[in-house]
Amino acid sequence: MNRRRSDVLPDEERTRLEGLVQEEREARRRAESLAETRLQDLYAKQQQIELLNTIASAANQSDSIAEVLRTALSAIGQFLDWPVGHAYLARKTANGEMELTPTGIWHLHMPDPVEAFRECTEDTIFRPGEGLPGRVLEQRVPVWVEHLEHDPNFPRRVAAALSGLRSGFAFPVMVGHEIACVLEFFTTETASRQPDVLALLAQAGIQLGRVVERNRHAERLIHHASHDPLTGLPNRRLFHDRLEHAIARYTREPESLFAVLFVDLDRFKLVNDSLGHTAGDELLTQVGQRLLTALRQNDTVSRPGSNSSTRPDDTLARLGGDEFTILLEGLHEPVDALRVAERLQAVLHKPFSIAGQTVYVTVSIGIATRPYGQVCPIAGTDGDGPTRAEDLMREADMAMYRAKSLGKARCEFCDPGMQSQALESLHLETDLRESVERNAFVVHYQPIMSLADNRITGFEALVRWERDGELLSPDRFISIAEDAGLIHLIDMQVLYAACHQLQLWNAQRSGPPLTISTNLSARQLTRPELVDEVAMILQGTDTPPEQLRLEITETATLGNLDELIATLKGLKALGVSLAMDDFGTGYSSLSYLHRLPLDILKIDRAFVAGLDRDEYSQRLVQTVINMARNLGLEAVAEGVESNTHAATLRALGCARAQGYYYSRPVPAEQASELLVVDRLPPSNP
Ligand code: C2E
Ligand code: CA
Ligand code: CA
Repeated sequence: MNRRRSDVLPDEERTRLEGLVQEEREARRRAESLAETRLQDLYAKQQQIELLNTIASAANQSDSIAEVLRTALSAIGQFLDWPVGHAYLARKTANGEMELTPTGIWHLHMPDPVEAFRECTEDTIFRPGEGLPGRVLEQRVPVWVEHLEHDPNFPRRVAAALSGLRSGFAFPVMVGHEIACVLEFFTTETASRQPDVLALLAQAGIQLGRVVERNRHAERLIHHASHDPLTGLPNRRLFHDRLEHAIARYTREPESLFAVLFVDLDRFKLVNDSLGHTAGDELLTQVGQRLLTALRQNDTVSRPGSNSSTRPDDTLARLGGDEFTILLEGLHEPVDALRVAERLQAVLHKPFSIAGQTVYVTVSIGIATRPYGQVCPIAGTDGDGPTRAEDLMREADMAMYRAKSLGKARCEFCDPGMQSQALESLHLETDLRESVERNAFVVHYQPIMSLADNRITGFEALVRWERDGELLSPDRFISIAEDAGLIHLIDMQVLYAACHQLQLWNAQRSGPPLTISTNLSARQLTRPELVDEVAMILQGTDTPPEQLRLEITETATLGNLDELIATLKGLKALGVSLAMDDFGTGYSSLSYLHRLPLDILKIDRAFVAGLDRDEYSQRLVQTVINMARNLGLEAVAEGVESNTHAATLRALGCARAQGYYYSRPVPAEQASELLVVDRLPPSNP
């Protein structure tokens, strides 16, 4: 019946009913989709809450700020599925500004090596506004960078590119109104800004701040237990702890050297007895302060081209009474410890004013230093057993007693072998000083080839030292010359000789003029006279500035960057070219590369050496060459030792190369002979 009735429904009625059905269907769809979104929302919320809960509960269980940060990094990294995260601690500098120091605490979940990025990050301190974390510090809100490689304010972009990282963000951990830490995360995909994630993390930041605050309080308590109340310096317990850590570290890196210095005031009892205990305490506090200042001038042992030039902070502790101990790490040779000891003695030289009296202080210092496993003969430790903190302390103590018995105010090594080695270095320094006066240096020349046609385009000048009839390589004396403040004299002598030689060659040449590359030690790049001296040498040798290429190493960027840039600009203004030497060995400066007015990038031979071994090296070299091209720099490869190296570099688009494959560095006369041949290697036309 129904059917029949509908059959006879008028048209307009049918349309109306159909409309109703349609409407109802749509309403249902809307309701369903709304429910689904709500469900999704709810699910997302639940996950977010879970994240906040995880952070909260894990953080509450951690008993140090480091632990809190580690937990938070890993929880957030996993939640977002972002493979790289790192934490910075904010701190106030001496001039009251805030800055961010890397903690070395990471969330790392990447199969590919992110070594370049990690090292670069751990070497950089960010000031407000600088880079990603610096922007968070300045703006106090989360910051997102979608394209790391194109961001003008992301100094680590080259390292990030080398590590395959594309996008990143950072957010602050707030304690009240103050930023305590900044956490940053990176991913290998290009990720656009996600406001809800940032909002969530801003909340996580506040939550973490509460835990950090609680831990700070606890850490203050720990500080009391591990520090000497009189001087505020670490106490015996903490020193012992640090020493054990150092020993463990050097077990893994046995080529390094560390030292324990035992410092004891001479005749302290006299002050105590004559001026009273309060005066004695005052003296100890002031001595502690001066020792600390001397240690902070932590620059004696840096080496160009080596990334260990930033030594870890030294630990100065007060054991009790008038005894202090110092732990020096990252030394290169025993003489480094001796230099520090001499500096300590020097800062104590100026009289102290205590209780209205002038007091003179000298100290006796004992040094125990050795690579891991080597045993000090006078300490009576048996055999090759593992180094223990107690042994080192005892050895340094015994050496200190020897210093006392030999007349006080002096410094003795525990190991007589070390002593003579250190003295030998000092002796070398004296010789070097004389040689600089006599100009006893020889310059060797290594051809730099055009990869396109195997022709010589110029030479790199490399210094040699003639000592007692032997020709010493730069590795044996450059660092000593740097420490002794002689390097700039050597560099200028080499520069003069090389420019002079270049003009002799170019005068006899018909083709395009050759260029000469010389090395400038990082130590002298901030000398105000440098630019004038280079100008004078160019003039004195009639060298057109465009024929000179000055090579600096990445170590140079570890100092004051603004000063460095000013010097480099001064040199550029003369018309000379600037090269970054050993590129890729000191990642610290990767982040500053684009700020330096460079023309040339020299690819370190460590990378070239891998070219015929593994694909990774090839990719790395390719990346560096591309990067050079992007920055408008010429790429020059070092350490080309085989035809494979040369061919690969040529295929990768590298312009010039040098290495034993073409020629070792040779004296000027032999270099002249190479110029006659012109195409190298001779057997390879
Ligand atoms: P550098 O500037 O990286 O110089 C290249 C070094 O690599 C040279 O060592 C050269 O002999 C070596 N070399 C060249 N081709 C090959 C190769 O195919 N295989 C291998 N294994 N090595 C190769 P050298 O002459 O001993 O110089 C060492 C370092 O001393 C230089 O490294 C540079 O940093 C420094 N230096 C040399 N001359 C001077 C100078 O006049 N002033 C300053 N400040 N430093 C200098
Ligand atoms: Ca060089
Ligand atoms: Ca080099």
